[in-house]
Amino acid sequence: MSYSTEELHQLDQQYYLPTFKRYPLAFKKGSGSRLWDMEGNEYIDALAGIAVNNVGNCHPKVAEAISKQAHELVHISNFFLSEPQVKLAKKLAELSGMQRVFFGNSGAEAGEGAIKIARKYASKNGRGSKIIAMKNAFHGRTLATVAATGKEAMMNGFAPIPEGFMHAPFNDLDAIKSMVTDEVGAIMLEPIQGEGGINPADKQFLIDLRAFCDEHNLVLVFDEVQCGIARTGKMFAHEHFGVKPDVMTLAKGLGAGVPIGAVLATEKAGQAIDWGDHGTTYGGNPLVCAAALANLEVIEEENLLAEAEKKGQWVKDKIESVKADYPEIKEIRGYGLMLGIELTVESKPIVTTMMLKHHVIANATAGNVVRLVPPLNIPQEDIETVIEVLLKSIKEHR
Ligand SMILES: *Cc1c(COP(=O)(O)O)cnc(C)c1O
Repeated sequence: MSYSTEELHQLDQQYYLPTFKRYPLAFKKGSGSRLWDMEGNEYIDALAGIAVNNVGNCHPKVAEAISKQAHELVHISNFFLSEPQVKLAKKLAELSGMQRVFFGNSGAEAGEGAIKIARKYASKNGRGSKIIAMKNAFHGRTLATVAATGKEAMMNGFAPIPEGFMHAPFNDLDAIKSMVTDEVGAIMLEPIQGEGGINPADKQFLIDLRAFCDEHNLVLVFDEVQCGIARTGKMFAHEHFGVKPDVMTLAKGLGAGVPIGAVLATEKAGQAIDWGDHGTTYGGNPLVCAAALANLEVIEEENLLAEAEKKGQWVKDKIESVKADYPEIKEIRGYGLMLGIELTVESKPIVTTMMLKHHVIANATAGNVVRLVPPLNIPQEDIETVIEVLLKSIKEHR
């Protein structure tokens, strides 16, 4: 017996902790850039589970790898080695040019790891534990990452919140410099802010920040949970700016939908961690690592860096070409297929009533931004439909 969407909606309201204001829409099946609801209606997916399904829904190669691994070995604890985990650590080190890798289960957990590495490094190198993060950031929902995020609304009622996080305006090196004392040990930022509205860092800001961190032995942490793993047309978003971090977090696009996060560190930063300093039971088990390895193989085989770049450019050109007829469109920002279209009006009704009605799944963030983070292998026809529907929805909303 299968539930209808309406029944699922009722049961969800009854049983699920009321954390998400969800659409009364339940999906049953996905393939590539398409999703099907309980009643069999088809949708184009321009959200990809929030920048997670970079190789599309249920990619056959990933499904095959998960199935094979599930029959062979799922979990063994981190007291022992497994080939998928070792291979994935090696692969991420080679791709990033960083030397050390640790696996967790989510973006926030990767952020926790990054914060611990940064603080441990600082404590061993005569600097304090404070971390400067950016205004408008998002680093997760655990207590420390919510402190790094710094949004009042996310911290209310959860005191005591871990101390030691300060917030500087994004892209403002002078502000950061004025906040740095011996008590500060690290700077943490997203090279392209995701939840904050798809705000890319200025190249010169990052270059100068890197030099400043080197000069003062500050740990530079990049949160690439959303912008990493080919999303922006480069394997890691920081490659657009030619600036390397000391510590980097990954998650969303890494596992093609299985729960995996990773924190990477240079040898220098990673050396601060001693035996027993950090751990996890599930993190990086054979099942999720096999999925992530298959995911990375698909990204290479299907040339998804170039695909993200090409389709992202098409969207930008298209939006620029019609902008004159759409006074609601302020600007389009982003790299590859991590795109934000800032409107002069609230984006949520356009996304949740209009676009959804036309069976396109997109996302509204930061009040007036439409976020498009579709699978990187979305067919050209589908991305054209997404933009067509967006424009039609803007008009209908007038
Ligand atoms: C989503 C996100 C996180 C948190 O990841 P979870 O898997 O939800 O814990 C952290 N940082 C950034 C930049 C994100 O976009």
